[in-house]
Amino acid sequence: MTTKHPRITREKKTIDKMVHVYCRGKHGTKGNQLCDDCTEFLAYAFMRLDKCPFQEEKSTCGKCLVHCYQPDMKEKAKKIMRYSGPRLIYRSPILALHHVFDGRKKPLTLKELKDKKQKNSHT
Ligand SMILES: [Zn+2]
Repeated sequence: MTTKHPRITREKKTIDKMVHVYCRGKHGTKGNQLCDDCTEFLAYAFMRLDKCPFQEEKSTCGKCLVHCYQPDMKEKAKKIMRYSGPRLIYRSPILALHHVFDGRKKPLTLKELKDKKQKNSHT
C-alpha cells in the first residue's frame, strides 16, 4: 500500500470492507473470500481510484462530479454502498466516520481542480 495518498488508501480500505460485507451477506461467501463477481468489481474500483485525478482533493466516489465508472459497475457500486454503508458503521465505526467526513468535502470539477493546482504552483 502506498502512503503517498492517505486519502486514496483510506477510500480503498473502505471499499474493500464494503465489498466484503456485501459479498458475505448477499453471496454467502465465508471469511475473507470474495466471489468472482465481487473480486472483479473490487479490482475495477481500485483501478479507478488509482486513476482518479483528484487523489487528495477527492470527495467520496458517491459525490464525485466526474462519473468515471462504467454504467454496470456504477449500478453495482450503488447496490454495494446501499447494503454495506449502514452495516459498516457498526463493524468499522472509525472508517465509516472518516467516510462521512470525506464526503463533506465539496466535490470539485476537473476545471476547479486544475485552477487549484495552478494556484498552488504559483505560491
Ligand atoms: Zn460476491
